[in-house]
Amino acid sequence: MSAQNPQTGPLVDGPHDPEHDPRASYALEPGYVAGLTRRVVSTTGRTAEVASPLGGQPLAHIPQSGAEDVDAAFARARRAQVAWARTPLEERSAIFLRYHDLLFDRRDELLDLVGLESGKARKDAYLELAHLALTARYYARTAHQHLDTRRVAGMIPGATRTEINRIPKGVVGIISPWNYPLTMAICDGLPALMAGNAVVAKPDAQTMLTALLATQLLEEAGMPADLWQVVAGPGRELGAPMIQRSDYICFTGSTATGRIVAQQCADRLIGCSLELGGKNPMLVLRDAPLERAADGAVRGVFSNAGQLCVSMERLFVADQVYDRFVERFVARTEAMTLGASLDWSVDMGSLISQDQLDTVQAHVDDAVAKGARVLAGGRARPDLGPYFFEPTILEGVTPDMTCFGHETFGPVVSLYRFHDESDAVARANEGDYGLNASIYTRDGARGRALARQLRCGTVNINEAYGATFGSLAAPMGGMRDSGMGRRQGAEGIHRYTEAQSVATQRLVPIAPMLGMSEETNAKLFTLGLRAMKKLGKA
Ligand code: NAD
Repeated sequence: MSAQNPQTGPLVDGPHDPEHDPRASYALEPGYVAGLTRRVVSTTGRTAEVASPLGGQPLAHIPQSGAEDVDAAFARARRAQVAWARTPLEERSAIFLRYHDLLFDRRDELLDLVGLESGKARKDAYLELAHLALTARYYARTAHQHLDTRRVAGMIPGATRTEINRIPKGVVGIISPWNYPLTMAICDGLPALMAGNAVVAKPDAQTMLTALLATQLLEEAGMPADLWQVVAGPGRELGAPMIQRSDYICFTGSTATGRIVAQQCADRLIGCSLELGGKNPMLVLRDAPLERAADGAVRGVFSNAGQLCVSMERLFVADQVYDRFVERFVARTEAMTLGASLDWSVDMGSLISQDQLDTVQAHVDDAVAKGARVLAGGRARPDLGPYFFEPTILEGVTPDMTCFGHETFGPVVSLYRFHDESDAVARANEGDYGLNASIYTRDGARGRALARQLRCGTVNINEAYGATFGSLAAPMGGMRDSGMGRRQGAEGIHRYTEAQSVATQRLVPIAPMLGMSEETNAKLFTLGLRAMKKLGKA
């Protein structure tokens, strides 16, 4: 065990313990850190400090990459990709299945690093690990289904044999955020590898150690050493050189950065998938199971302290159940434990940074100044750590308030009452985002019918986000300003391939035969086409 945890007990919500100095709580062995950071492609001699949001204490100095390091990373990845593209799918799958097991074997080490770097509660860190393992297993088990050459109907039945090959793009650039530092750094790279590509990854600067450990485990599972390169540094410096050298870009982050990435990809005519922000609505219908809905709302709003692209920031509750729902939701929120801890005892951890805290505080201050009511939380908690903020429920939020339409990306939710469901759907569809939605109802069929009216890429019924996120066979991503393209499922792997159609013409050419005139040929051809239509052919 390399991450040391000398803390004697969790810091829970309550009076600050003057004996406890969170700044001194956690430390990492220098040798352990060096073992991880040597994976960064870096010749600049520069380093950047990573500090833990749990107490602000420095954790490591990460070597920084320059444009020439990005060049070197792509050159190595390109060389490795040639042999990898010839590796049978069985071998690739076996590596992924070993990776699945290794993630669980090294669970505590991974969860410690995620907690230290991101400040999140351990249960939230575990969900990342589970998602990554699910992704590895899903693509291991479905590789043939997605990638095997597929026969389709040819132009002339019996004479045109047509098939579709899936050709790897080459080297995929992956730019990922800090909020899910384990799974977001790796999960999109797994289908890229499975499809025969190499990867150059630029994880977020704040959570490099987690990404590096997860990459090391891929190698331990049998992935060839150079196939996955890691560069480190600010996105605004490394983004452009990465896009210049990539054959495809997978970007996860804010909508503002996503637009910049998309423009640069357009200039190079390379594809990209963009997993961006959201302002996700939950609808609690009048027949909702209220206990379950209140539990779901707590998870949906406050998981990962709300720093989750698919978390709920707007709750629309039917008039008939509003008071009863709110009473339950507020009670559960107030009962949450908050703290800086690497154990399983806390419900919600820290925000990641001063920037995040400033945004959350500004959204709440603005709403309160303009007349919103705070039903729970509403305050920063410096007694628990530098970036803690209480789980916060607001009522009376109006369109002039920042948190009405802008993503807070923190533990803050606005409650709205609705009278009829079509009004709720219309309000849920307001704004430019369209990532995730949730509906609570006892009538699953009605929920599914309403889902079709929501302009969101995923809709969870009687769940907040976990049901779609954990359904690896289903695509996940955003409509409108929430993104382009999808991760997971067939879409999640096909984005990393070029579809190549190969048609072999046998027996007869697609041209007049034996001196036949073009006109006669056209008549015969038309007869054939009419017959095919009658036979119901596509
Ligand atoms: P961000 O856009 O600032 O950063 C994300 C990544 O992009 C980081 O690695 C960063 O270094 C890099 N980057 C920054 N500027 C760049 C540039 N000019 N060119 C290329 N790369 C650049 O986002 P963030 O604040 O770190 O993450 C939070 C946002 O991400 C939220 O809006 C959240 O909703 C979104 N998010 C979306 C998903 C999803 O799946 N849809 C998942 C997680 C987070």
